[in-house]
Amino acid sequence: MKSRSLLLHCCCAHCTAYSVSYWRRQGFEVSAFWYNPNIHPYMEHQSRLEAMKSLARQLDLPLIISEGYGIIDYLRQVVGHEPRRCRYCFRLRLKKTAEMAQEMGLDAFTTSLIISPHQEHDLLREVGVSLAQETGLDFRYADLRKHYSDSRHMTKELNLYRQQYCGCVYSEWERYANIRIA
Ligand code: SF4
Repeated sequence: MKSRSLLLHCCCAHCTAYSVSYWRRQGFEVSAFWYNPNIHPYMEHQSRLEAMKSLARQLDLPLIISEGYGIIDYLRQVVGHEPRRCRYCFRLRLKKTAEMAQEMGLDAFTTSLIISPHQEHDLLREVGVSLAQETGLDFRYADLRKHYSDSRHMTKELNLYRQQYCGCVYSEWERYANIRIA
């Protein structure tokens, strides 16, 4: 039977490792997509992208990298909505993923964000389902949070760059100042 094709939006190498093996075990032919204009500053984005490229080589995983950086698109979405910025951030990244999946003629899309206990899962699911309705593609959700540490364990020996905050300048501020933007 022909396997179904899935485009996996990759937020970082460490969340991607287990996610790829999980979706492959579900019978999907997995391709990875990098589009993360929420990662600031630029050199932090590049460090995480290099880690992702290295993982893709290790996993024999096709990796599509969105052109450019996209920080301006990101900021135009979230400025003025800072306390609720994750909704706009998720939608921006998943919309681009769904559009790329459509362009590639794939069956389904998902994101490695669904392995992270630090993300809002109800919101991720809501955004994914609404984009599935808009595009006619299948959005795949599975609660992989209990495998978060397994995924990090898988990348440990690869010695890849590890980030210390979610991605945006706001999250970096929250992480180091130990505050919550309200
Ligand atoms: S905290 Fe993370 S998910 Fe939320 S807006 Fe910032 S980068 Fe995006």
